[in-house]
Amino acid sequence: MSGLPHISNWVDGTHALPAAERVEVINPATEAVIGTVDATSRATVDAIIQESLASFRRGRWSRAEASERYAVLSKAAALLRARIPEFVELETEQTGRPVREMRAQLARIPEWLEYFGSLARVHAGQVTPFKGPVVNTLTRQPLGVVAQITPWNHPLLIATKKIAAALAAGNVVVVKPSELAPLSVLRLGSLFQEAGLPDGTLQIVCGYGRDTGRFLCEHPALAKIDLTGGLATYRAIAPAAALNMIPITAELGGKAPVCLFPSLDVDHAVKAALFASFIASGQTCVTGSRLLVHQDIYDPFVARLESRVRALRVGDPTDVHTQIGSVISRASVDRCAAFVDRAVKEGGRLICGGKPTDVDGKGFFFQPTVIETHPGSDLSCNEVFGPVIALLKCSSEEHIVQVANDSAFALGASVWTNDFSQAHRVADKIEAGIVWINGHHLNDPSSPWGGFKESGMGKENGLEAFESYTKVKSTVINYGIPPTWFDDEIENARYG
Ligand code: NAD
Repeated sequence: MSGLPHISNWVDGTHALPAAERVEVINPATEAVIGTVDATSRATVDAIIQESLASFRRGRWSRAEASERYAVLSKAAALLRARIPEFVELETEQTGRPVREMRAQLARIPEWLEYFGSLARVHAGQVTPFKGPVVNTLTRQPLGVVAQITPWNHPLLIATKKIAAALAAGNVVVVKPSELAPLSVLRLGSLFQEAGLPDGTLQIVCGYGRDTGRFLCEHPALAKIDLTGGLATYRAIAPAAALNMIPITAELGGKAPVCLFPSLDVDHAVKAALFASFIASGQTCVTGSRLLVHQDIYDPFVARLESRVRALRVGDPTDVHTQIGSVISRASVDRCAAFVDRAVKEGGRLICGGKPTDVDGKGFFFQPTVIETHPGSDLSCNEVFGPVIALLKCSSEEHIVQVANDSAFALGASVWTNDFSQAHRVADKIEAGIVWINGHHLNDPSSPWGGFKESGMGKENGLEAFESYTKVKSTVINYGIPPTWFDDEIENARYG
């Protein structure tokens, strides 16, 4: 391990002394170890939270003017925009996602800092219609020290979404990136410092989820936990958070249906399916992992889909021509293979793919895979988080809606049709936090993002996310009601 760069936690405006235990970060496309980060102990987590609390109470950021928050977040956006190529390279290296995807995704991330900085600057309080000679103001205050637990699939995007909203609202943030891809988030510390964020306002703490993540989420001094991850992780952190009365925003998994109707040109329907299903090798929470295809276009659709999927260019993520990179780990390859096995045992028909693959004998790659199956199958019901897609033939519009909603998940869904009325009718009936019509994966800092059912609760993005990082304070200002209640024989004295 000697010679490998070790990037230690970012705490109080500097890289802390390295922890005794370390986590190796692996490039999943080459299997090379590309660096190490801290495996932070409980004692260190506790000390960081205490220091973060002191930082919040000092008020250097929590009581900063809205105009200052706006200025810092805008500057951070500009700094990040100037350094996108460097972040693209790092993100590709630690996730195995194709460079063309990372370029497109990262180019937009500064917008989250600009949006939430602007929101901080323009957000106004309220005055209620309180009865009588009273002015009641509602103002929003930051919550305190918030913990953010982020995943590996969009490491920089998801962390920035959460950090931007929380900082805009005046909180102190302790973020724990995924142990599988923590490196880009670790670079945000010095970037925010350069933008003028006071030291001790953004703390970046690394380690395994089962240890460092747990130590963080069990701390009673937190004011909020914002998790993006799996349902099992939510269930692991929820009991302690409930006892400590700490609210949780949970962005969890999905099984997004892609509803394809016969008014579509078949070629267009296939392009829609490819886009929905295979971005990030199927490793996004809104991956179009269930293709619900109307029977009237089914046969030509399947024929065309098969030939397009077989032609996808799987390979070295740093090659600009590569369309499908690696998955994140060997465990992920094994999980994809197990899903294929079970799907076939349950009577599924393998249309294409189905096997692990590699580049020059290395890397955690899995072939883009489509399996024709039925609605109750394991593949139709459970999240793969990889490029293994369920294909389902549906007999009618009603059937598509029924199958789409017959899921424990309800995060994203897309409806593809040229029939205007059908688009609205179906979108209205689909149970999902985000429904796209003739699109998929579309995302904007202003657009609330989050699921229903087992896909989570609360929202990222938009006013909803900003306000979820605040608490409402009601101040009641009396300018005409005398405190005469206990005077003798007073008529019409007001109590409430
Ligand atoms: P994960 O739940 O394994 O890990 C997410 C984070 O939680 C990591 O930082 C991990 O270290 C931490 N963690 C794990 N166990 C923990 C514990 N006991 N206590 C505290 N922290 C813990 O998920 P992942 O594999 O990184 O990401 C994949 C999952 O995330 C999928 O289910 C995917 O659908 C979901 N996801 C959801 C969204 C969304 O917006 N809804 C976006 C991306 C990913």
